[in-house]
Amino acid sequence: MTKQKSFLEYLSIVSIASCVFFGPTQAATARDVPQPTHPITIQEAVNRAYNDYKSNTDGSNASYIPYLEKANTKLYGIVVVTIDGKIFKAGDADYFFPVESISKIFTLAHVLKIQGANNLKNKIGVNATGLPFNSALAIELNNDKLTGSPPPGNPLVNAGAIATASLVEGKSLEEKWNTVIKTASAFAGRPLTLNKDVYDSEMADNQHNLAIAILLKSYHYLYADSAETIDLYTRECSYNVTAKDLAVMGATLANGGNNPLTHQNVTDEETSMRVLAVMATAGLYNTSGEWLYNVGLPAKSGVGGGIVAVVPGKMAIAVYSSPLDAAGNSVRGQLAIQSIAHDLGINIFKNK
Ligand code: GLN
Repeated sequence: MTKQKSFLEYLSIVSIASCVFFGPTQAATARDVPQPTHPITIQEAVNRAYNDYKSNTDGSNASYIPYLEKANTKLYGIVVVTIDGKIFKAGDADYFFPVESISKIFTLAHVLKIQGANNLKNKIGVNATGLPFNSALAIELNNDKLTGSPPPGNPLVNAGAIATASLVEGKSLEEKWNTVIKTASAFAGRPLTLNKDVYDSEMADNQHNLAIAILLKSYHYLYADSAETIDLYTRECSYNVTAKDLAVMGATLANGGNNPLTHQNVTDEETSMRVLAVMATAGLYNTSGEWLYNVGLPAKSGVGGGIVAVVPGKMAIAVYSSPLDAAGNSVRGQLAIQSIAHDLGINIFKNK
């Protein structure tokens, strides 16, 4: 068997194993309408996005986590929080749902601050993997030195987020968890809590993430015990948030680390900028490039149906709607953010 053949065989097996199929294979694209002719308010843009996609039923719930499969697909909430603390909302803005992968950006903010930017780059990596969020193949490809990136690849895919969780300091799992949930709570400006049912549901069927942790450990890119790290990572994915929480958390990043509601300095400006840069590379997993091309905003999604986009120096836009596209991103979430950004003329690549 030639080297190439065995690699291709490996590639097909691992990519199939790593893929989690949700809804339509195409990333959602918002309606192609001209910019409103007169300037519209943020609340009008939120209302338009809410009304235009309220009856959209595309996508399906994440079925690989039993708790998420049961989510009510009708729920739909949009919240914008500006850096001066104004809140604009529509729909189910205060409904609690599991944060899932969106938590990765807040744990990253903590680890980035204690480790420094260079360590983060050398221990985890900051390049897009271009592969599904839970890909084990990405670890092998990076380890093969094909990309020159360390094997975890990027802190926003599972391998990188698990490696990031392994860098949270603390003598015990409880101490580490306390750090993670306290950090996230400071971003939200209120105490966030674990959803025990989601945690149990994920822990009961967590072999794939555990395999990722063990593979990283074998390459010396996991920095704590694998079982303990998976427990911490799973707790991190299982705390509850609302769309309003996500908008406040995103607005804190938009505001250089200062929470616009509590005025607490949750993190610093440099950390916020680095987190936003990583969100732009991998926040929507393997469709991050398409997202950035279409919308021009750093964002982060989770398979719980949440998504938050950040407009640096201005605001954050957060949406909850559980049906996902094939990459695991909320369908209505993407459409609503794209619509609001379009209507308000927001894009980080714009020259004015
Ligand atoms: N807890 C989920 C997992 O690890 C999070 C994935 C996600 O939101 N993309 O599979």
